Amino acid sequence: MPDAASPAGVAPGTVVAFEGVSKSYPGGVTAVDGVDLAVRYGELACLVGPSGSGKSTMLHLMGTLDRPSAGRVAIDGYEVAGLSDRELSALRAQRIGFVFQQFHLAVGVPVLDTVADGLLYTGVPMRERRRRAARALARVGLDHRLGHLPHQLSGGERQRAAVARAVIGEPALLLADEPTGNLDSASGAAVLALLRELHSAGTTVVVITHDREMAREFDRRVEMRDGRIVADSARATPAGTEAGR
Ligand code: ADP
Repeated sequence: MPDAASPAGVAPGTVVAFEGVSKSYPGGVTAVDGVDLAVRYGELACLVGPSGSGKSTMLHLMGTLDRPSAGRVAIDGYEVAGLSDRELSALRAQRIGFVFQQFHLAVGVPVLDTVADGLLYTGVPMRERRRRAARALARVGLDHRLGHLPHQLSGGERQRAAVARAVIGEPALLLADEPTGNLDSASGAAVLALLRELHSAGTTVVVITHDREMAREFDRRVEMRDGRIVADSARATPAGTEAGR
């Protein structure tokens, strides 16, 4: 865990705190433009918007994979600007879980070991890592597939293994980037059900998606356009309805 003290000014219970956050890329693209956003521990939220609206950039900022060009980002109480790259890596390894559309499971590595690797930088000995991996795989319904290689699994099973890897360290925040984007609808629904189950068990989950249908499944929907939040179901808009509806 980073040594830096928790910053003053982050409301208690807030796992993602963005204040006036912008991210610009060389060439003059402003991918995220003055965003204020607070996600509380225990939420199940999605960021929804068309391609190019800034969702991936938001995910990178929330995952501390990127630093903002302007504004303030605090994750799990730690202000990103106050941490070195090494401290950010520690924060990511210990407090943030990632799930990607493309699964990102290591080729040729049995699923049990891939999931156990989710604890690689936490100092947990290998035997214990594998024991916990077996438990995490049981939790996602894959206890009968521990020795399988990724190519021996269906897409849905691969994504469930990726979720097991992401949550094995009990992260404060689980970030998922189009987690059902590569799946047929039945497997996608199963992965979504799994995320709901994890949420019910206390995990904070933030998903990004361009799929408005899927977005409806979430307790909280934050809608993005052109790098800005245009609606947030957790906030009343002046008209009392969500913008754009
Ligand atoms: P989304 O995930 O909603 O598709 P992105 O966050 O990927 O949106 O992109 C938002 C905008 O920022 C787009 O116009 C995109 O072309 C631009 N962008 C994203 N990443 C980069 C980058 N590394 N360099 C330059 N422009 C980028």
